[in-house]
Amino acid sequence: MVMAVEDSVVRVVVRVRPPTLRELESQRQPVVQVVDERVLVFDPEEPDGGFPGLKWGSTHDGPKKKGKDLTFVFDRVFGEAATQQDVFQHTTHSILDSFLQGYNCSVFAYGATGAGKTHTMLGREGDPGIMYLTTMELYRRLEARQEEKQFEVLISYQEPASAEQLLEMLTRGNRNRKQHPTDANATSSRSHAIFQVFVKQQDRVPGLTQALQVAKMSLIDLAGSERASSTQAKGERLREGANINRSLLALINVLNALADAKGRKSHVPYRDSKLTRLLKDSIGGNCRTVMIAAISPSSLAYEDTYNTLKYADRAKEI
Ligand code: ADP
Ligand code: MG
Repeated sequence: MVMAVEDSVVRVVVRVRPPTLRELESQRQPVVQVVDERVLVFDPEEPDGGFPGLKWGSTHDGPKKKGKDLTFVFDRVFGEAATQQDVFQHTTHSILDSFLQGYNCSVFAYGATGAGKTHTMLGREGDPGIMYLTTMELYRRLEARQEEKQFEVLISYQEPASAEQLLEMLTRGNRNRKQHPTDANATSSRSHAIFQVFVKQQDRVPGLTQALQVAKMSLIDLAGSERASSTQAKGERLREGANINRSLLALINVLNALADAKGRKSHVPYRDSKLTRLLKDSIGGNCRTVMIAAISPSSLAYEDTYNTLKYADRAKEI
């Protein structure tokens, strides 16, 4: 049976960030070609005459490149020109409706260090990311319903370094939307930044329908996946290496178990880490999940990008 992608519990999107100065200066060919809004090619075969529009200024006069030339299809592919708004519109914006209907939701940014996770989730001065845009849109929607319902909103943020800045930018942003958040830079690539919004809704006029509704949305900037990337054999439980982030592995194991278990009841190891215990009621089952795989376009990140794409492709099976 072929299932429509829209039916799947997990929506998987990929964001390709623009090349950094260092990547541009390396004068190497990009290894990611965005074909359209659903399709990208990893390590494309070089056509005769080179790639039109796919060179970063270098003249390429070596032998014709023979790449892996792998085509991937995702729910959405964002090229380097995509804005924070574009990403927001096609990720959390689409699950806010479900959230307000009482479904738990989670959004993960997955990828190697430097691939663009924090930029996507937190953003920077003048260009806030999904955590901010989602919360603002949520406030707007709650405001619009204030006549009918009474709300309680609770926000929690775990990642000591930037919590204050994020909360400050949210309060400021709520007071005056023209102001912009400060850059909460240098978030550790070893830890996860977990932003959660809890909403409790109650009908102002008691009716016949269920009066109280509680839902949770978790927005997560995961630790860099580079140390976890080399053992992605399908269905194989990952072993923990010396420096691998334990909870990232636990999350990968949970997602793998969910993919294997699709439609069947089977053991999902939620209890293996703090992160997965925290997300037990937010992934799988009756929840809406979006995975944003962040990648660099540069051959300097070849292995990381390849592993991230393979993993994102696997997540489509959930
Ligand atoms: P990660 O959190 O995955 O380690 P970052 O989000 O910190 O990666 O991104 C690495 C660098 O690339 C940062 O300097 C960031 O500002 C920049 N960057 C990432 N994504 C984009 C983007 N879409 N547009 C512009 N700059 C980006
Ligand atoms: Mg980061």
